[in-house]
Amino acid sequence: MMSTAKPAYAQTDDLEAILVSEAAIKRRLKKLGADITAAYGKEEITVIAIINGAILFSADLLRQIPNPIRLDCIRISSYRNQTRSHGKPQLLHSLTLDIANRHVLLIDDILDTGKTLSVVVNLIKKQNPASVRTCVLLDKKGRREVEFEADFVGFQIPDRFVVGYGLDFAERYRNLPCVGILKPHLQNPPEWA
Ligand code: 5GP
Ligand code: MG
Repeated sequence: MMSTAKPAYAQTDDLEAILVSEAAIKRRLKKLGADITAAYGKEEITVIAIINGAILFSADLLRQIPNPIRLDCIRISSYRNQTRSHGKPQLLHSLTLDIANRHVLLIDDILDTGKTLSVVVNLIKKQNPASVRTCVLLDKKGRREVEFEADFVGFQIPDRFVVGYGLDFAERYRNLPCVGILKPHLQNPPEWA
């Protein structure tokens, strides 16, 4: 039976521009998966995904890696809504897996000021892993406040607030298959700045 219902609300209508298309993400993930596989050889990898942002990226990326993988997730408090004095990212939900002597791959959605990943890498190193590498979908190099480079980067992007493919605005838009710039009038209040 033909549906007379209106087409579903398209969240992409809320985007001013698409920065990284679904097809580009798919292509890049294949190469990223191959690069990660080459770096680890046949080693088992203990993947730590920073939720919620890295959920979609991690799910797709891990399926491009044939190595044995142990998966854990951590949750970090956002420092963005807080005053400067409370500006350090805190671990809200910590590891359940033992990572001592393991090869750790830390995955996040985006590397911006560098504060989150540098704090998390230091926490992980305290548990004596065999190695720690980092992988991010997006990198806004121009915004760095703390010196930090990821080992594996999906895409370099300009200094714009982006949503989609795991990245949210007020917990929405994570399910977009692409990464785009939210129209300015929808960033109200601008909680991320
Ligand atoms: P950093 O600690 O490197 O400044 O920021 C990392 C975190 O900030 C990311 O995990 C993400 O939650 C958030 N973030 C930074 N830039 C953006 C952006 O453009 N869009 C969204 N949705 N989140 C961002
Ligand atoms: Mg995040």
